Amino acid sequence: MIIAIDGPAAAGKGTLARRLADHFGLAFLDTGSLYRAVGAKVLRAGQDPAHNKAAKSAAESLSPADLQAPELRTEAVGAAASVVAAQPAVRDALLAFQRNFARRPPGGAKGAVLDGRDIGTVICPEPDVVKFFVHASPEARAERRFKELQAKGDSATYARVLQDMNDRDTRDASRGVAALKKAADAYDLDTTGLSPDQVFEKALAHIQSRSRA
Ligand code: C5P
Repeated sequence: MIIAIDGPAAAGKGTLARRLADHFGLAFLDTGSLYRAVGAKVLRAGQDPAHNKAAKSAAESLSPADLQAPELRTEAVGAAASVVAAQPAVRDALLAFQRNFARRPPGGAKGAVLDGRDIGTVICPEPDVVKFFVHASPEARAERRFKELQAKGDSATYARVLQDMNDRDTRDASRGVAALKKAADAYDLDTTGLSPDQVFEKALAHIQSRSRA
């Protein structure tokens, strides 16, 4: 079983992906962390994420330790990730790892859940893959991200979070390669106003209805 979950920032993809992975005993890959690790590596080297050569070389030399970088979840790294993610050479360098994870999950798991922007459209477009497109209003998503940052003691303002998120969504949805979009056969899940439990129940109901069909 492969589950692909795509959608914009802070729509609830990660929470849903983890819960589905736990529920079905599947391996989980947060593909955004790969792009974040590339962005963080470029920034750490004092280079510009928009510089193709620097981003390509960071992606090609990515190691498991890079995925543990403490700054991975910061807004600055999120922005750098979306800049490196628009570059075809970076995406090419990360493609085989993601496909391999989906089809041959680690630890003998019987399947995998991957969340990102292009899982259902590029990484795992096959019809046997269960696909979700998870989204919510920009205000609901900014509110969630703002609360997460506040809980971590970050002093970002709501207005700034909303602006950064809109910039990142625009970049992700308008880029020439693997732009953020719903796969034709993805289940549309609007999480605005829903609790994580309600989102999980809806996703589960969809998976169950598919397996009955
Ligand atoms: O999901 P997350 O916010 O961690 O992703 C960071 C950035 O990585 C996104 O804004 C997007 O530009 C990029 N990304 C991508 N394709 C994926 C996952 C993430 O382009 N499959």
